[in-house]
Parts: sequence; C-alpha cells; structure tokens
Amino acid sequence: MRVRFFGAAGEVTGSCTLVEAGDVRFLVDCGMFQGGREARAKNLRALDFGFDVRDIDFVLLTHAHIDHSGLLPRLAVLGFRGPIYATPATIDLLAVLLPDSAHIQEKESEWQLRHQHRRGGSERGVVAPLYTVAQAQTTLGLLQPAPYGRTIEPAPGIAVRFHDAGHILGSAWLEVTAAGEGRPRRLVFSGDIGMRDRPVLNDPETIIPSADLLLIESTYGDRLHRPLAETEEEIIAAIGRTRACHGNLVIPSFAVGRTQEIIYILADLVRQGRLEPLKVFVDSPMANEATRITLAHPALLDSETRDLLEWLKAHPNKLKLEFVADVEASRALNDVRSGAIIISASGMCEAGRIKYHLRENLPRSECSVLIAGFQAAGTLGRRLVDGARLVHIFGEPVPVRARIYTVGGLSAHADQAGLLDWIGGVHTPPRHTCVIHGEAGASATFAQAIRDRLGWKDVMLPKPGDSLPL
Ligand SMILES: [Zn+2]
Repeated sequence: MRVRFFGAAGEVTGSCTLVEAGDVRFLVDCGMFQGGREARAKNLRALDFGFDVRDIDFVLLTHAHIDHSGLLPRLAVLGFRGPIYATPATIDLLAVLLPDSAHIQEKESEWQLRHQHRRGGSERGVVAPLYTVAQAQTTLGLLQPAPYGRTIEPAPGIAVRFHDAGHILGSAWLEVTAAGEGRPRRLVFSGDIGMRDRPVLNDPETIIPSADLLLIESTYGDRLHRPLAETEEEIIAAIGRTRACHGNLVIPSFAVGRTQEIIYILADLVRQGRLEPLKVFVDSPMANEATRITLAHPALLDSETRDLLEWLKAHPNKLKLEFVADVEASRALNDVRSGAIIISASGMCEAGRIKYHLRENLPRSECSVLIAGFQAAGTLGRRLVDGARLVHIFGEPVPVRARIYTVGGLSAHADQAGLLDWIGGVHTPPRHTCVIHGEAGASATFAQAIRDRLGWKDVMLPKPGDSLPL
C-alpha cells in the first residue's frame, strides 16, 4: 500500500491524497488551490493532476469547502466516472458551491477576454475555466451519500466510515480499512476539524480507532483562538454604538457556516436579554441557500441550536430575519440610512453584494462594520482591518469613516489545543502521523507539539509529490 500527497502538503489549500491499495486506487478530497496568482498557477499545473484520473476507482470527500472539493469537476472533465462518496449534507452544499465555483471561473475568463480585446491583444494567455457550470452540474451526478457512522464498501476489501468533524455542515473525518496484501491497514483522515463548544454544529467526534497512518490538519496548529465570550461582548458593543449613532451595521460573512453562526449568536444574545429585539437582513443568495440547507439537516445541529430554534418559533418578534432574494430588494437596502443590521457575502469583501453595502455605509461615521472572519492579505476586508482611511470599491475611492470592529472568537477550525484534544482521543498512538493542511510554520509547530505533549515518535511533514509506503 502507498499514500501519495498532491496538495495541502506544506500549505492550506488544494487537499488531494492518493491511496493505492493493491489494485484499488482512490483519492481523499480533490480541492482547489486558493489565494492569489500562485494558486492559479498551481491549479493549472494540476490540470492533469500528475496521475491518470481514469485509474481512480472512487473518491472520498471530507467536506464541501472548495479547497477540498473544487477540482472534482476537473477530475470528471478528464474522464473520471465516479463514484464520489460524501455525507448527504455535503452533497446538498456541493449543489450550490460547485456551480458557483464554475460560474466565478467563467466570469473571470470572460473578463480577461474582454480586457484583451479592448487592448487589441490576442487571446493567448487568457485562462480558460477549469470547468464550466454545465460540467460542474454533471459532476454532481457522480455523488453517492455516505451517512455518518455507517460502514460503506466502495471496493472489495475497502471499508470506510464517515464521522462528524464539527467543521462545517456535513464535514467528516474518515476511517478507512484496506485489506490489500498482507495484514489490513487502517488510515484516518482528519479532513478539517472544528472547534468544540461553538454554535450551531455538533462537536467533532473524537478519534477511537488506532491507525497505521493518521493524517491531521494543522491550519491553526500554532495558535489558540480567543474565547467566544469576547466576541459576544464586541457584537453587543457594535450594535449598541450603531443604534446610538443612528447608523447601520454591516457584517461581511462567509455564506456557509459563518452566517449561520452569527445569526445564532444574535438570537442567543436577544434570548438572554443582552440585546433588544432585532431585525436582521441576510443579503446573499448563497448564504440564504446555505441557511436553508442547514435547517434541512436538524440532526446535525447541536442541542443548544435546536433549543434556540424552538425559542425563535415561540417568539417570532424577538429576531426578525429577512432573507433578501432579488437584486431590487438588495438595492433598496442601500437607501436605508439607520437601524439596519446587514449580513452579506463575500466574507473577505472581494465580491458579491457586500461591496454595495460597504460603498454606501463606509463613508458614514454613524455606521459600523463588524469583521468576523479571517481576511487574507490583499483583500478589501484586510485593508479595513488594517485601518485604511480610503479604499477603492468598483474602481471608485471610498473614504472609511465608519467604525470597524474585528472579532476573533469565531473559527471553523480547531486551534492547537482543540487539535491536540481531538487526536488525544486515540487509544494507541498511530504508527505514522502526517501533519498536513497548514502553512509550513503552523504545521511544524503542531508536529512538535504532538511529539512533546503526546510523546508520539513518527510525526512527518510531507511535501507535495511525497510518497509513503505502508
Ligand atoms: Zn474546510
């Protein structure tokens, strides 16, 4: 048996691991590289993946995030005919996320083409989409449901079980047993692991099986998150100030996960009497879809969230949520001068309706912006966090007079303590451990923490292209 690393090795995105067990070949995740120009080049290099996709028997998908799922349609374009196993909630989210990813690529490509024509240049150098919306739709047909806790046998001698990872709706860590030649081998893939005691989702299931190989993510392997209580205090302060000043509060948010967490916190603060009753606009078609899908899977929500939903049903006037559907209604929100709380995407303020809300509200000192997620370098959201006094939106200069609040207590990823807690649940140390899915520094720090705190000896930091015999 052999495990080969094609992405998220020494970096955070592009998750893709190939397992060869006897005659059977399968992938765990097939994600897109994300974050700037370098990522685009890597996605293009991954055009043919460096292996023959027609030899792949099946794919196991840990969760719907594009850095884990975004190249699945590319796999299909190159001749992979499935199946792709994922939890039912992941399948629902992919039906929204994959066509959206294709749509963004198509738009980007059209824009480049127009730009070249305007300059009288040739079409050479224009990057074609990795896949089209139609191809993304076709890929959805390859998905097969694998509910949590049920053992599936995607190929003779291979048994797989999906466990709740508590990261985003439907996220899973995987336990794979492969008979192969000789004695059976057990592999555990962490996917992305969520933070315990956070709103909306269940806590990650703790590891039970001992393994020949454990692959563990390390996105925040070198740090600890701030407590949720601080975030609540800051949200209360932002809403209080904005009300007193008769302005609006704008909250840029990731559509999947973060939007639902913020709605939970707002509702919970109202229930506790720490906030007055609220009216909140959710202005993002994808956030609306993601919220609908979340509510369609009540069994995946933690008991606190189910209680809160019951309370909201019994007290419909305490939190009025308005999901803004069409563009007209979204534009009408631009005319609201005071009292509106607007949650909108994208989370880093780079695209989508949030840009219109920022253009209207940033120049007004009575308004506030609450940044509740990680902002990558070079994004509009990052410039706001860094205290820019002037930004550009749609090519126009926009002065920043609104108060910017940054809250750091919300993260879909476990921090170092959370990750150690999760792998600490294993009975016997794995024979080998590979630390992946982190910036080089974070992964190295976390690998050392495993050696120091848990006393595990064989902890590795694989590089792209590395191959590990088992
Ligand atoms: Zn993720």
